[in-house]
Amino acid sequence: MGLLSGKKAVIFGVANDKSIAWAIAQAFKRKGAELALTYANETVAKRVRPLAESIGAELVLPCDVRSDAEIKTVFGEIGQAWGGFDILVHSIAFANKEELKGSFLNTTREGFAMALDISAYSLVALVKEAAPLMQGRGGSVLTMTYYGAQKVFPNYNVMGVAKAALEACVRYLAEALGPDGTRINAISAGPLKTLAAAGVGGFNQIAGHVEEKAPLRSNITQEDVAGAALYLCSSLARGVTGDIHFVDSGYNIIGL
Ligand code: NAD
Repeated sequence: MGLLSGKKAVIFGVANDKSIAWAIAQAFKRKGAELALTYANETVAKRVRPLAESIGAELVLPCDVRSDAEIKTVFGEIGQAWGGFDILVHSIAFANKEELKGSFLNTTREGFAMALDISAYSLVALVKEAAPLMQGRGGSVLTMTYYGAQKVFPNYNVMGVAKAALEACVRYLAEALGPDGTRINAISAGPLKTLAAAGVGGFNQIAGHVEEKAPLRSNITQEDVAGAALYLCSSLARGVTGDIHFVDSGYNIIGL
């Protein structure tokens, strides 16, 4: 019996085999979960479909989280196929590349709204539709954040503000979902070379700094995040909700 045997998990955010969400999907599958994967658009679908097939994901569905209609449709289809489900993973963020370099003073109204919509509000939008399907199952929601929510990092700019909003959403959603027995937590991951990270200026400099200064003197891997995700989304973490859990080689505890 795997840790997630009999559990059904819906995972948003696989774009390719470097995605954090892909490492989580693989780990969940290995521990016995049934999977539904979603993809943002047809370009991403070309990469996601073969990956989904390779681990026998039961459902593979489109969903651009900017659209309430697409969110409604995707959970409608999941509800029809499964009745309900136990785990929701939100591993999604986006900001225009121009907003992720140079001074934060250059942040535009449009860029701010888009980053906050896709990277923070989308969690609320997904949970709203998912909640009735997760009710009474002791389920768990997980999202991905970064230390740039709490401290200033060069070039992270509007994404730091979006992650701060996301972390606050986790706390408010924990309170809203708690009476139904559903938990929600975030993993604050250290820097990982993915498509999303490629958009942030000076990524290599930050990763190099972590390797030098973090207590564990190394960068993390996608699999390290997946291990923590497994814990947070399983009954092992049944007393944990509203938490921001660092998987960053301990980097966040260092002052100087
Ligand atoms: P990734 O590029 O593989 O994943 C980002 C995902 O967001 C992609 O699958 C993309 O399709 C999806 N997405 C973007 N806009 C969307 C939309 N409108 N609708 C639906 N999906 C949309 O990169 P990743 O690093 O695996 O990122 C996953 C999460 O982890 C993000 O929230 C990111 O901020 C967070 N994170 C990443 C790092 C890192 O260093 N890579 C560190 C901490 C946190």
